[in-house]
Amino acid sequence: MIPRFEYIRVFSLPEAVDVLSRREDAAPLAGGQSLIPMLKLRVASYGVLVDIGRVRELRYLRYGDVVEVGALVRHYELEESPCGFLRGVAVRIGDPQVRSLGTVGGSLAHADPFGDWPAAMLALGAVVKTAGPDGAREVAIDDFVKGPYQTALERGELVAGLEFRCPPRGAYVKFARRHNDFALTAVAVAAEVKEGHVSWARVAALGAADRPVRLRKVEALLSGVPLTADVIASAAEAAAKEAQPPADFRASAEYRRALLSVAVKRALGRL
Ligand SMILES: Cc1cc2nc3c(=O)[nH]c(=O)nc-3n(C[C@H](O)[C@H](O)[C@H](O)COP(=O)(O)OP(=O)(O)OC[C@H]3O[C@@H](n4cnc5c(N)ncnc54)[C@H](O)[C@@H]3O)c2cc1C
Repeated sequence: MIPRFEYIRVFSLPEAVDVLSRREDAAPLAGGQSLIPMLKLRVASYGVLVDIGRVRELRYLRYGDVVEVGALVRHYELEESPCGFLRGVAVRIGDPQVRSLGTVGGSLAHADPFGDWPAAMLALGAVVKTAGPDGAREVAIDDFVKGPYQTALERGELVAGLEFRCPPRGAYVKFARRHNDFALTAVAVAAEVKEGHVSWARVAALGAADRPVRLRKVEALLSGVPLTADVIASAAEAAAKEAQPPADFRASAEYRRALLSVAVKRALGRL
């Protein structure tokens, strides 16, 4: 049985922040696709769940020069996004049930080391917008995920949304044991390629460390060079050297390292 908890539904952002900052044993409930399994498995327990699902201020999706994704945007809403990079990530998350309930903000806040959105947002260089008892903050994604299931969020603070530019070129390559399972490894690349030369590239990976990380040596290697087969092969090799993959019941570190190298090769080949 799930340990007993109080359930409070809130309808505005100030109300959500108020309840969450007053109650030390409170947690926000968004799509429930990670929180409910955690309660069932008894790896988490809270005195009160604050259902933020009806908070309008967190539900927006705007495409302009900057893409603005509210925390409550569900994975499926990005499956047909005009931004191709987002489509490539969204369709690889879980199954249709998970995608129809799970939210982007929930995924970021949960910071599962194998969650797809944190790595994708790292490649995009997103800004995480938060709302809390001390007001709103903007946190660079590079500073947001602090470790496995750990973020820069403070007590009572919510992910309100994310902002980033849709990259001119992008690719997301994910390896999982079964289609749309959690990743063994995944590589997200956002880049600009002009006349065959890479102007800039941000490369992020899952399964290369205990949290999503940027592959900075790969990024440096790509900067300003033509995207030839040799460059791609060197980048794949550099990724394998740079990574410090975790080992668990799903894959050994060496297997992840090998997959990572292939994922880099495929992702760069798709730019
Ligand atoms: C069968 C299955 C398969 C899955 N496969 C994948 C997969 O392949 N890839 C993947 O990335 N994920 C996968 N997931 C997880 C899924 O993507 C979740 O939707 C996501 O991790 C959390 O989003 P949520 O809205 O469901 O958050 P919830 O479960 O409601 O919350 C998760 C955590 O974040 C907190 N939280 C939620 N929203 C906010 C907010 N706005 N601000 C601050 N804190 C907040 C909660 O308090 C909780 O601690 C899978 C889940 C299941 C059940």
